[in-house]
Amino acid sequence: MKIDATAALDHPEHRYAFDMQESPVGWEFPLDIDFIGDIRVYGMYWSKKGSVYMQGNIAARLDAQCSRCLQSIEYPIDIEFEWMFSQQEDIDNGVYALKGKQMILDKLILDEISLVMPLQYLCKPDCKGLCPKCGKNRNTEVCECNISSNGLNPFEQLKDLF
Ligand SMILES: [Zn+2]
Ligand SMILES: [Zn+2]
Repeated sequence: MKIDATAALDHPEHRYAFDMQESPVGWEFPLDIDFIGDIRVYGMYWSKKGSVYMQGNIAARLDAQCSRCLQSIEYPIDIEFEWMFSQQEDIDNGVYALKGKQMILDKLILDEISLVMPLQYLCKPDCKGLCPKCGKNRNTEVCECNISSNGLNPFEQLKDLF
């Protein structure tokens, strides 16, 4: 994904809107995750004193797996970003290089996504996971293994109710 900044550089302070969608399959910098469909990037950019400023959002859906019950889940992400491009790259200060007058976005997009990826995915906050004894999905099935998430026998607790 790239944007030609020629017009913006020729017209300082003029704001240009963009809205692009692309499949990251085949991008040069693969992340170890699967995307569902396209990555969408949208926002505005403008130039000032020979540098180009870009502000916008990255929206994507990841094909993930619940770390407790192993169900596959669709994990949506929506990230706000602010980037600056200049002839002189200065990565430490968040300034990226203009290649000619092109802003190359693939690596920047994947870097932003890798920063917000959780260490663990959950299908829902209170996922009960798989039974460690029989392997049944405890969200949808009841098993007789007498293990509850707090380590107590759930049938013992129920007895007190009657
Ligand atoms: Zn789950
Ligand atoms: Zn069980």
